[in-house]
Amino acid sequence: MKRYIQCGIFSSVILILVCSFLQACKSRLFVSQPVYQHPEIMELKEQQEVVIINSETYTIPPPWKGNRLTAPEFDYSDFRLIPVKYTHNGSKIYILNTAHQSLVSLLQAAEKEGVFLKVESAYRSETYQKSIFKRMLAKGRTFDDIVRYVAPPGYSQHVLGTAVDFFPSNWRFADKIDCTWLKENGRRFGFEETYPQFNPMKRPWEPWHWNFTGKNDEFVNLGK
Ligand SMILES: [Zn+2]
Repeated sequence: MKRYIQCGIFSSVILILVCSFLQACKSRLFVSQPVYQHPEIMELKEQQEVVIINSETYTIPPPWKGNRLTAPEFDYSDFRLIPVKYTHNGSKIYILNTAHQSLVSLLQAAEKEGVFLKVESAYRSETYQKSIFKRMLAKGRTFDDIVRYVAPPGYSQHVLGTAVDFFPSNWRFADKIDCTWLKENGRRFGFEETYPQFNPMKRPWEPWHWNFTGKNDEFVNLGK
């Protein structure tokens, strides 16, 4: 009997080790892996709206407060790689399948007109968003300063897998032909500027940030 118990415990330990190893391998396959239920983020209290980073508790300020986004359960197969010729520095960037074809069509149409849009970021898990904060905090920035420009983990539209940041994702983008082209053509491909200048949500203006909503008048003309 004792031998059976020992054997059972041994098998369980081996199984746990194998599972941990497989999980570790899996997470390395994906640049911004769809794992967003980070234990510390799960501690985010709905009422108080706080986020815990490096054991430090931060209160979510306006305009983010009250606007937490919940992403559906994603699987690796839900995402597709954006062709690297259209990404900044050839980075491997993923977007949700539903938005992929429209984005590629948009990028190709721009290219035909001599506008070479580059994607700097698309899908970002809560865990990935949190790593951005960790990096910036480590550089001495304060949480209050960071949230003036970057959405807190759980509040970024990038968690939905349909949002895209074009390069450069900063104020210089507003002066580029890329920005003008997107304003004139983005909607044809189902993309909308989420936070336009003077937006009613009172979020900071992000001319580089576009989200695929699929809503447009000329959706059937994709790729023209
Ligand atoms: Zn963005």
